[in-house]
Amino acid sequence: MTSHQIRQAFLDFFRSKEHLIVPSAPLVAKNDPTLMFNNSGMAQFKDFFLGNGTPPSRRIADTQKCLRVSGKHNDLEDVGFDTYHHTMFEMLGNWSFGDYFKKEAIAWAWELLTDVYKLPKDRLYVSVFEGNEADGVPFDQEAWDLWKGIVGEDRIILGNKKDNFWEMGDTGPCGPCSEIHIDLRSPAEVAEVSGKSLVNNDHPQVVEIWNLVFMQFERKADGSLIPLPSTHVDTGMGFERLCMAIQQKTSNYDTDVFQNTIGVLETLSGKKYGQNDEPFADIAMRVISDHIRAVSFAITDGQLPSNVKAGYVIRRILRRAVRYGYSYLGFQEPFFHKLVPVLAEQFKDVFTELKDQEEFVTRVILEEEKSFLRTLESGLKRLDSIISGLKETGLNTIPGDEVFELSDTFGFPVDLTALIAREKSFQIDETGYQDALAEQKKRSRQDAAKEATDWVELREYDGVEFLGYDFEETHSHIVKYRKVKTKAGEEYHIVLDRTPFYAEMGGQVGDTGELILNGEKKEEGGRRIAIVDTKKENDLFVHISRDKNLDEALSGAGIITAKIDIDRRNKIKANHSATHLMLSSMREVLGTHVSQKGSFLNDEVLRFDFAHFSKVTDEELRRIEDRVNEKIRGNIALEERRNVPIQQALDAGATATFGEKYGDFVRLIIFDPKFSFELCGGTHVPSTGEIGVFKFISEGSVSAGVRRVEAVTGEKALELMRQQEETLNKIKDLLKGPADLVKAVESLIEERSALQKKITSLENEKIQALKTALIENMETHSTFNLIVQKVDVPSADSLKQLSYELRDQVENLIAVFGAEIGGKPQLSVFIAENIVQETGLNAGKIVKDLAKEIRGGGGGQPFFATAGGSDASGLDTALEKAKGLF
Ligand code: ATP
Ligand code: MG
Repeated sequence: MTSHQIRQAFLDFFRSKEHLIVPSAPLVAKNDPTLMFNNSGMAQFKDFFLGNGTPPSRRIADTQKCLRVSGKHNDLEDVGFDTYHHTMFEMLGNWSFGDYFKKEAIAWAWELLTDVYKLPKDRLYVSVFEGNEADGVPFDQEAWDLWKGIVGEDRIILGNKKDNFWEMGDTGPCGPCSEIHIDLRSPAEVAEVSGKSLVNNDHPQVVEIWNLVFMQFERKADGSLIPLPSTHVDTGMGFERLCMAIQQKTSNYDTDVFQNTIGVLETLSGKKYGQNDEPFADIAMRVISDHIRAVSFAITDGQLPSNVKAGYVIRRILRRAVRYGYSYLGFQEPFFHKLVPVLAEQFKDVFTELKDQEEFVTRVILEEEKSFLRTLESGLKRLDSIISGLKETGLNTIPGDEVFELSDTFGFPVDLTALIAREKSFQIDETGYQDALAEQKKRSRQDAAKEATDWVELREYDGVEFLGYDFEETHSHIVKYRKVKTKAGEEYHIVLDRTPFYAEMGGQVGDTGELILNGEKKEEGGRRIAIVDTKKENDLFVHISRDKNLDEALSGAGIITAKIDIDRRNKIKANHSATHLMLSSMREVLGTHVSQKGSFLNDEVLRFDFAHFSKVTDEELRRIEDRVNEKIRGNIALEERRNVPIQQALDAGATATFGEKYGDFVRLIIFDPKFSFELCGGTHVPSTGEIGVFKFISEGSVSAGVRRVEAVTGEKALELMRQQEETLNKIKDLLKGPADLVKAVESLIEERSALQKKITSLENEKIQALKTALIENMETHSTFNLIVQKVDVPSADSLKQLSYELRDQVENLIAVFGAEIGGKPQLSVFIAENIVQETGLNAGKIVKDLAKEIRGGGGGQPFFATAGGSDASGLDTALEKAKGLF
């Protein structure tokens, strides 16, 4: 079976078991404060397990793009070194939300593996949770019995809490799991050592392929477990490992999933995979063919490489690949981007989004590669200078903090530093490096530290009713709340059954406002709670308050009034609608390749990142601005359509954003169907006239292939224009109200540069005169000519000029100058090269010594050196001292 057939067979199998097949969620996690990237199939279904929403079906199956490079699951360092852990992989999964449980999950898994895929039964092992006394969870008898009905007892292994008990997080749903492992070794090896003893022992050919999780408990914040009201199944099978097993290979990289990219690498490098003497060449090919998937799909789903957070994770993966190519496959020029087309082709029917953005992804990677190759070069230079510095001191270990700085600041990888160091008979202080790293990790953990109490549940809840499109105020109930300690202080997180508050999403900030409890009158126990932000946690709308001591008020509240700050919301609406008009205008002016790569808007400004490969010229900006303002003046009425089936919306030509997860039904925001027609969940003005006016305030580059513009609307735009007007008026006043301001400034600049020229030539003349005087007063000795003199020169540079010019006129010159420049003492020492060579005199050392008199320091070369200081009164002493030296 090909990998395509294997994937299809999985989905078909579970479809036949009445599962709804859904698309993969984007690789980049949105609205989940605990996750940067989706790292398992269940991530997109979290809310259903937490009871914050209802699934579209109680049985679901899919293949999910996963990335395990950060947080709880981080396999990055293993990737390439072993043959079965990837950064990005597909996780095949089937789920039961309060529907079937262990019996069906186990029977179906076995049926699929052995009947459909025909995997040999005598090579499969299964594990069952042994129980944990401290948690009060018993041995999973139910799973054991079910498995015993299928396989011999000798194929069942007991597993501990680490391997066989799954938890969503520190708190939340959890339960025992059963894993399925496969032994892919040769018959001879199997005869020698039993596969059972190798399960869960990091053997590359005895690997876990499928994990069946049975959720039946909930972990509370105090660590205790309570049974869940209804039980769920969550399974995850590594697609690439499954392909390895079915295609009878011993490495994931030998399957057709990776062979295409490895083939291209072989052609580019002239090396054959698996036939290399240097082991690192094979590792490099695995690393690269793995990483290109992670990087390409992350960019496709909207996560561009950058310097912070998730973007930095992607940049590091990309750099790891480029460096392995550079070090072990001889790629000194960009190569990584060349793999994108192969991948896009391979996945064009599975994850179509890559094919759609092939050119963009390729260009982003190419630019990143170029800049990293430059970094590599500057890192090399830096390393050279560290090494030569060490040589002088006779040490041969590069200190840990230098290694850390090289990697952290210069992006220069540690093992490369070690490799180069080794080539020069140096080593690195590995422990020191680890310490510095640990220190940094500790710092960032502390920064991110958050502590939350359990939710205090007040009412039944089945998802929030968001009424904010139509109302600015609702009557609501408090469903639950909790206290969270953050760096900023203590916060209350409050969940309502219905709310007008928009929770931050799709670039639009969350609403602020207030909750009014028990009427408005204070004397009747009424209370107003300020809401400072509203955020989504998966599908939960969390209203955040920093007010103190709310427990009693929240617990006792009946019907409350939830009210947003409408003035702020109106400004936000204007900015959001303006963003839509702007995108359409951009596509008209710059071309249809312009697609959204990021967006942020609040009540003050709108910021928009988009794919475009060159600077947007002033002329283009003006045309876009004109077009937007034309549409504003047109006062186009908003046409909002809710609950449109997604396919119908896309067929009608609606603009969607890559990397956004859309449901089956979407909302359409239309300002003239022929002009702006977008899938959007945000809030908008009823007609474009309310935006008032639109004005760009900046345009620039964010990263390769992505530009950023910022703009303001309405009141803010007016404010901006007023400010500019004021600045102009001030300048006019300063220039005494000239008729033509531009001309006046131009002539000021001209005058200034003419004066500058005059000054330079005067200074020159002065130095020439000085030179003549100095030569006249020179002391002549038999082997040298000496000038020691306090001089009046305009800059430190003049001392150098003076010394060099004198050298051209006087043989065997030794010249020591002192000067006071801008109130600061300055010294210079010049010694003719031939004297340096004959006598070993060193201007650098001498100047350092003299500098003590002016309370300063300096240095330079043996023939010319300078020093600056802070005590000008010591200049004469310094010069006296100099006279005594020669
Ligand atoms: P392992 O112990 O092999 O790292 P795991 O216990 O981390 O696996 P789970 O979190 O249970 O794995 O994920 C479910 C399945 O996903 C695993 O059975 C395996 O087939 C697959 N899988 C897990 N991590 C990776 C990875 N980094 N690359 C490829 N497949 C993986
Ligand atoms: Mg793992």
